[in-house]
Amino acid sequence: MQPKLIIHGGAGSSLDEKGGLEIVRKSLHRIVDELYNLLLGDTAALDIVIRGCQMLEDDPIFNAGTGSVLQSDGQIRMSASLMDGLNHRFSGVINVSRIKNPIDLARALQESPDRVLSDSGAAEFVRELQMPVYNPLTDKRLNEWLEDRKQNFNRKMANVVTVSPGTGTIGVVALDKEGRLAAGTSTGGKGFEKIGRVSDSAMPAGNYATDSAAVSCTGIGEDIIDECLAAKIVIRVTDGFSIKAAFERSFAEAHEHKRDLGAIGIDAGGTINWGKTCDVILAAFHDGEKIGDSLEADKGKSTFSVE
Ligand code: ASP
Repeated sequence: MQPKLIIHGGAGSSLDEKGGLEIVRKSLHRIVDELYNLLLGDTAALDIVIRGCQMLEDDPIFNAGTGSVLQSDGQIRMSASLMDGLNHRFSGVINVSRIKNPIDLARALQESPDRVLSDSGAAEFVRELQMPVYNPLTDKRLNEWLEDRKQNFNRKMANVVTVSPGTGTIGVVALDKEGRLAAGTSTGGKGFEKIGRVSDSAMPAGNYATDSAAVSCTGIGEDIIDECLAAKIVIRVTDGFSIKAAFERSFAEAHEHKRDLGAIGIDAGGTINWGKTCDVILAAFHDGEKIGDSLEADKGKSTFSVE
């Protein structure tokens, strides 16, 4: 079957700011290009998702891994999850610090009887796996935090989705030649949050897959959780909706509830979708013929489908 791929680097207000669009586009297209070549070379969807998340985590313009935003106490705590659509298995890590690629922990947990670990348990697991200590802090994020501290952190979210240039939580959804689907999501959180706040990114609300569809979300985690967005879209497809209709219905509900979020997805037939309630979602995809992206998609339109 024709492999398909879509990735995202967050969602939010417009990319109009100087240079933002081209920086994000270059980064997303480079990653899609490399991942799609791997998909053509028989790499499994789950491995593509892991590799894609690592690449996006390593890119400091996105809010995951290196370049993660700081929380209210000035610390970085990252969350990531992985779902294998083939065997319907979710694994994740919540609020982990001092590692390079949180998605690697989610991968290691796929084979564990305990598949979601948080805080001190996650730290213990990092030690068990002998992962090297790594500081994901960048000067840019530190300066943003220092600026926002002056305003007493009164913004709803860190500068993770109001793009200057584009930054945000990351996600990857892939369909491989064998028809296997997988989804992965990784985040530094929304920024300035209370210690212990749990992101949607390591919950089925933010990242979910079956053998019918796979979805990764971005935006305000609390809104994504309230909509249970990823699981809702995937279950609608599993129950017989087309993915296009599942996105349309779920985003109509999200609009009605005044949510601030976005999502990407692929179904087992290879249809790619993305949706947003905000101006833009930073997504790029490969439809089997070419690379495309959502960066200049109609701001007034909510969901998009590519056969
Ligand atoms: N969903 C993430 C969170 O709330 C943030 C983001 O998507 O940028 O933790």
